[in-house]
Amino acid sequence: MSKNYRGKSINRKTKWRGTCPKCNRTGVKLIWPQGNIKVCKQCFSKNSSEKN
Ligand SMILES: [Zn+2]
Repeated sequence: MSKNYRGKSINRKTKWRGTCPKCNRTGVKLIWPQGNIKVCKQCFSKNSSEKN
């Protein structure tokens, strides 16, 4: 009876996941703003560390 319900919340898509426009990595979090685009954490930290 309750089998109809399984897997409904597992396959939910999260809106901040996608392909990074900088490194073309897929399935990464794109929540770090860089200019007018959102990049992944790797690209963001790499760019901000250049200030040092
Ligand atoms: Zn990236």
